[in-house]
Amino acid sequence: MNTDKKRILLLLPTKTYRATDFLAAASQLDVEVVVGCNRRQTLSDLSPRKSLVVNFNMLEEATQQIVAFAETDPIHAVVGADDDTTILAAMASKALSLPHNTVASAYATRNKHRMRKLLAEAGIASPRFDLVSIDDDPTKISARVSFPCVLKPLTLAASRGVIRANNPAEFVAAFHRVVAILQTPDVAAQGKPEARQILVEAFIPGIEVALEGILTRGRLKVLAIFDKPDPLDGPFFEETFYITPSRLPANTQEKIADCTARAAEALGLREGPVHAELRLNDEETWIVEVAGRSIGGLCARTLRFGTGISLEELIIRHAVGIEVESLQRERQPAGVMMIPIPHAGILREVRGSNEAKQVDGIEEITISIPIGQEVVPLPEGTRYLGFIFARGGTPESVEAALREAHRRLAFVITAHEV
Ligand code: ADP
Repeated sequence: MNTDKKRILLLLPTKTYRATDFLAAASQLDVEVVVGCNRRQTLSDLSPRKSLVVNFNMLEEATQQIVAFAETDPIHAVVGADDDTTILAAMASKALSLPHNTVASAYATRNKHRMRKLLAEAGIASPRFDLVSIDDDPTKISARVSFPCVLKPLTLAASRGVIRANNPAEFVAAFHRVVAILQTPDVAAQGKPEARQILVEAFIPGIEVALEGILTRGRLKVLAIFDKPDPLDGPFFEETFYITPSRLPANTQEKIADCTARAAEALGLREGPVHAELRLNDEETWIVEVAGRSIGGLCARTLRFGTGISLEELIIRHAVGIEVESLQRERQPAGVMMIPIPHAGILREVRGSNEAKQVDGIEEITISIPIGQEVVPLPEGTRYLGFIFARGGTPESVEAALREAHRRLAFVITAHEV
């Protein structure tokens, strides 16, 4: 082995969408990769040269395993693929004395109540909130909340269980629906006390944007600001379009960047990728959420930096100490549509893919749910049907291409297994 070569530990949970893209990125760089994974099966699928099976839910034990591994095979950076890896990445980096986000900050980004408290303490615009227990009487709570409001679980992601209520009757119905989600086996099995709580927030009207950035010693470099041109007014908050560059005026974009930087600081985030969701209205620039990870799903494929560097490669470069400050996003407008699940059932067939691919500007269409599998829409579901990617001369033409491609697709979903 070349002893100068840096070695990274890439934390890839079995269900991540990002394994292929992170591994492809690592192969572009002169780094050795150890894949930290929670199941051996994924490892054989990906056939990496080295691997470490760790339990992402047993954080102390997993950290010790990583430290023991690093005694013989030194690790120069720990890179997490998504939400499920951020706390372990912080703990392992701390134990290995690598630059890292504090463990407390990683916890704060994974608990929506803790995040709201820290943002409020730092005076950052974020909605009023109230924490309630699933054992409380929703009728009584509904008498004291202001409407419209949003109910949400504390630790879930991808808008799962996030529901708007406009009046007491909707509140009670939404409350029972969130409780049912919190009691589904996959959530309840985690045994977290947060699964017995619901956050109730004031609904913030306005448009929504996302910011993708990277922190180096606490300084935020903005990588992209995405517009979300479809209104996100509820009752459920299905993401569809992400289009960059933003069409908002430069001073509004500065406010978005400034607000994200202050929020990251308030949470204690200092190193690595950040993904923020913000809402804008006449009153304020509001933080909906800041995560210490990069953009989810396959959406990172919209971004390329310098001469074709992927977001995953940029993240690994940053982690091993290669300068990324000078890297700029390719100027060409780009976008993605996350294809929502129209209704529950079994996905039988996807029609129109060839016609959709022929739309000018469409680069790729990926259906990420295999034919024959069950599909569940929000607020209970956790996945999208797939992703459509486009590039074009303007953000408007990218949006139009995505809409047209989606119009040409038809999803055959039957109600029951036959
Ligand atoms: P998750 O982490 O599951 O995505 P979020 O808290 O980010 O949960 O909420 C998901 C989406 O729901 C947001 O992107 C936004 O569109 C909407 N949303 C959440 N909270 C509010 C709020 N207080 N006001 C308005 N919209 C909200």
